[in-house]
Amino acid sequence: MNNRNKYLVILIIISILTLSVFGILIYLNHDDKNNELDNSEIVNKENENNNNSIEANPKKEEENKEDIIITELKSEEYFIQNNLDRYLSYKGIHPEKSNKDIIADVNSNIDKDFYTDIKSSDLDKGILVIVNKYHALTKDYVPDLVTMENTYTGVAGAKMQKEAYEHFKEMVDSAKLEDIKLFNVSAYRSYNTQNTLYTNYVKRDGVDGADRYSARPGHSEHQTGLASDINTASSKDHFENTKEYSWLIANSYKYGFILRYPENKEYLTGYKFEPWHYRYVGVEVATYIHEHDITYDEYYAYFVENN
Ligand SMILES: [Zn+2]
Repeated sequence: MNNRNKYLVILIIISILTLSVFGILIYLNHDDKNNELDNSEIVNKENENNNNSIEANPKKEEENKEDIIITELKSEEYFIQNNLDRYLSYKGIHPEKSNKDIIADVNSNIDKDFYTDIKSSDLDKGILVIVNKYHALTKDYVPDLVTMENTYTGVAGAKMQKEAYEHFKEMVDSAKLEDIKLFNVSAYRSYNTQNTLYTNYVKRDGVDGADRYSARPGHSEHQTGLASDINTASSKDHFENTKEYSWLIANSYKYGFILRYPENKEYLTGYKFEPWHYRYVGVEVATYIHEHDITYDEYYAYFVENN
């Protein structure tokens, strides 16, 4: 090979190497651009994800909040699964109320207006029958009754159911030993008697006034033959300030009787404080109610109706 040819070969080799180096550089540069594109896509996608999660969070938070409320409600002592929807909507209207109160109110039905959604009192419950502003006895319901002896009633010919009367007598006799004088002034009242009473009260005080202290016909516990007004039936007498009242509060449960319309529970029972009105529910139930300071409406919803 002559010198000229040698130069040519070297030149070609240098050219090939140069081109190769350029080629590699161009390729690498291209790849970088791809990477940049990929990266920006990832960034965009991440942004999209962030946007989505910003939109999704409030929903999730709402769901979590409701889950927490449900868990809290379920941990309450008298929670009833069937009432869950009512607890939630009532809590929505009354966010200021404690969960304990939400349960007590709804179990007592006071998320509904008085005298709405009225059910028939379930007579199969026997002495645990409930009669209130949401449960009514029929016009023709008359329980089996016995006539009270004059020793036990200030109103001659008063009647009660036998089991309730037997316990009433025991209670009055025990009280007497402690120099406490108790007597019935109103026990069983028929539908018609209650109708007359209520109608007269409405004439005097209007419907709203009468509803605070008198039951509409069919809604009076006196129609069960399981209730007695003791010593008086008038607020004016302030029976709550007597030793007879104190004795009843401390002892009536031992004979199966409960104070049915206690002070400070008006909003649950629908009746103003009646220190004289006692209802027979049996010793076991009366003891529970006495020890746990709940109304019979609450007790019935959780322990009787719920089972
Ligand atoms: Zn009464």
